[in-house]
Amino acid sequence: MAGKLQKVDLRIVEILEEGIASRNDLPVMPRSGRDPVIQAIWRDTEMLLPGAGKLMPVRRAAVLIAFSNSGRLDFDEWRGQIIPLKAGGADEDNCVCSHDIDFCYIIGNRINHHQLIMGSVCIEMFGDKVISDQLKHLQYVAKGGKKRQCASCKRHCIDEEAPFWKKECLSCWKRGRFSFVHG
Ligand SMILES: [Zn+2]
Ligand SMILES: [Zn+2]
Repeated sequence: MAGKLQKVDLRIVEILEEGIASRNDLPVMPRSGRDPVIQAIWRDTEMLLPGAGKLMPVRRAAVLIAFSNSGRLDFDEWRGQIIPLKAGGADEDNCVCSHDIDFCYIIGNRINHHQLIMGSVCIEMFGDKVISDQLKHLQYVAKGGKKRQCASCKRHCIDEEAPFWKKECLSCWKRGRFSFVHG
């Protein structure tokens, strides 16, 4: 998934890390592309990289740098948790990359706790398995899905009425037993 999304050139990342001022000290709140602070970061980005500063992946990288703890484009800082902005999912806003989004998620920085609002496309860009699985689950629930997610394969295949301790689907449970016996 991560591979098909536009990556930001390393040289551009260096210019952004050098030139984008940290907004790390600002109050923590969910910030979308409609936040004037985010729009100011986009303007700074366009000043640093005329033309390229309007590209969504470059804007997204600049925002991640501005609200990071390290002042660097370090995806590891953002590997915490995602939560939907509204229960049920539907909403309308702008991602921190600037594109219009219908389903907004808040992604948190696990060090300084800053919160950015993103759409699913930008979230998939992180290429992080845990975050992608969370996203898959939130999208399923937003569509009205009721089954529970298997803790191992992440498919939604456990009946909602199943006892609370049933965390894995039958095939994962069997596979777990098998590798235990032979492990
Ligand atoms: Zn985006
Ligand atoms: Zn399973």
